[in-house]
Amino acid sequence: MNQRRVLNMTLNRRDFLKKASLGAAVMAGSGFLVGCNTTNVTPPAATPDKWDMETDVVVVGAGNGGLSAGAAAAEEGKKVIICEISGFIGGGSIYSGGGLHTWGTKTWEEYKAHTEDLHDPVLAKTYVETFRQTYIPWLQKIGIPITPAGGDRGYLKDYTMGSGEQGYLRQKAYFDALQKFIEGKGGQILTNTRVRQLVIDENGAVNGVYAQKKGENPIFIKAGAVVLAAGGFQANKGLTAQYIGSYGDTVRNMGTPYNTGSGMLMAQGVGALTGGSFSTFSGTLIGISPNRQTEENPEEYEKARSGDPQTLPGIGNGRPPAPGWVSFLFPEDTTGILVNLQGKRFMDETSPIDAKYPRVPQTIIKQKRGMALMIADQAIFDKNKSSDAILKMNESQGVKVIKGNTLDELATKLQDAYGVYKGTLIKTINDYNTAVGNGTAAQLDVPRVGGHFKVAAGPFYAFPTGVAIYHTFGGLIINEKAQVLDLQRQPIANLYAAPPTAAMFREPYAGGIASAGTFGYIAGKVIAKGSV
Ligand SMILES: Cc1cc2nc3c(=O)[nH]c(=O)nc-3n(C[C@H](O)[C@H](O)[C@H](O)COP(=O)(O)OP(=O)(O)OC[C@H]3O[C@@H](n4cnc5c(N)ncnc54)[C@H](O)[C@@H]3O)c2cc1C
Repeated sequence: MNQRRVLNMTLNRRDFLKKASLGAAVMAGSGFLVGCNTTNVTPPAATPDKWDMETDVVVVGAGNGGLSAGAAAAEEGKKVIICEISGFIGGGSIYSGGGLHTWGTKTWEEYKAHTEDLHDPVLAKTYVETFRQTYIPWLQKIGIPITPAGGDRGYLKDYTMGSGEQGYLRQKAYFDALQKFIEGKGGQILTNTRVRQLVIDENGAVNGVYAQKKGENPIFIKAGAVVLAAGGFQANKGLTAQYIGSYGDTVRNMGTPYNTGSGMLMAQGVGALTGGSFSTFSGTLIGISPNRQTEENPEEYEKARSGDPQTLPGIGNGRPPAPGWVSFLFPEDTTGILVNLQGKRFMDETSPIDAKYPRVPQTIIKQKRGMALMIADQAIFDKNKSSDAILKMNESQGVKVIKGNTLDELATKLQDAYGVYKGTLIKTINDYNTAVGNGTAAQLDVPRVGGHFKVAAGPFYAFPTGVAIYHTFGGLIINEKAQVLDLQRQPIANLYAAPPTAAMFREPYAGGIASAGTFGYIAGKVIAKGSV
């Protein structure tokens, strides 16, 4: 970089600081920040005298939401710049199981039944209909590899990324194709580039971003529209503590260390409305271990991403999965029981209502210490073919799995290790076994409608399970055109967002990559031509 350029940037930066603080003061005076938690939100920058780059659309984040937005706008001839803080594209989307799905629901009626009508009705209807009728055919038309998943239940009924590659290579094939399409249309993907702030004009309209490439000076990028597709906030323990409850800070992050809610916080800084279900999320059960590896450490994450894509950090790599004695995906497969540290069952582990994915982790996080004990006897242990391998993987990562030859021994050890009420635990399991034996388990105070297996013949196992989050549900309020709304529910000019940066789900879920991609696609098309 020549000296004149460095000087210009330094001046820009000084100007910016002056203007940004002035801008923030003006906005506070005019009520822009009313209702925002000013300790968290990211204030906007004021319009600079000179922009460093200009484009039609800036997209924040190169996961499925961001790349779908970029591809949709680029296809219509818009000049697109996608800023990605990581050195690699794909975000949490590339970590995922690669399932592009609406949990197999094909119509709005089916979707409503699956989600018990708990999701935002306008957005969810738009989502399920656009996903089937427009988004999937569009991906196929522009040559992005997807394959019918071929399963018969839940998320396995729809599509998977890739053309049959193994493991993470299928997600990689999908994202490589999106990147190629965008770049083929003249779009740019700026990796290692963090969007730090939105830029606004004197009317509060968003007109660009303030971004910084790693190791370089920050720059102002002028844009006709900005799409926020930065994922959820599960990597930000301040936000999970604030929103998920007293043990919200104990959740593990299954996504990337950059899923910090930065998109939501920047939008709040320009007066965006937030809402939806902040206390529920899509999540899983996970061994409680001190191992944090890539989920909180950007350097470790970048190192892992630069390695073999087959071994991308995900489930099983620093985040040991719970055994399948209580299935969080398909409760009808459940054989074991869950108790809290008071020694009591607290939900029907098999009910299509209580345990509908992902209500199991959502309920566990509300228990003491945000955890539960998954209990099995030897018969249940043996029924599940992967029990042995999973427990070994957990123990190698410091998870304290407790074993006892008798129920009394197990309960004593659990009292010592976790402060469980021993007498209550023994009574809970005895009452449960009696009810299973009598055929009255469905009438217990905490009923058990299916999976009637006794926990009766030692040795016994107790697996300490915590909660990990795939993506959060609360976020920005958007309309069906993906426009971000302000506190008066009016669109903020030129600002768009996709879930999970935007809110849509509550309790049951129906597709993270699919909802991000569908609303990213909608944002790109609305920006380019006013509608999809
Ligand atoms: C292990 C795992 C398995 C999953 N399995 C499935 C599944 O099978 N099916 C499914 O539908 N969903 C699944 N999900 C959920 C799904 O991955 C998310 O819902 C989805 O990734 C959201 O897409 P997104 O594009 O909004 O976010 P992401 O894919 O996380 O992309 C956001 C991007 O924004 C970048 N970013 C963040 N802040 C900034 C900033 N300030 N400046 C620049 N860049 C920024 C991040 O680095 C990231 O690359 C899974 C998630 C995980 C973690």
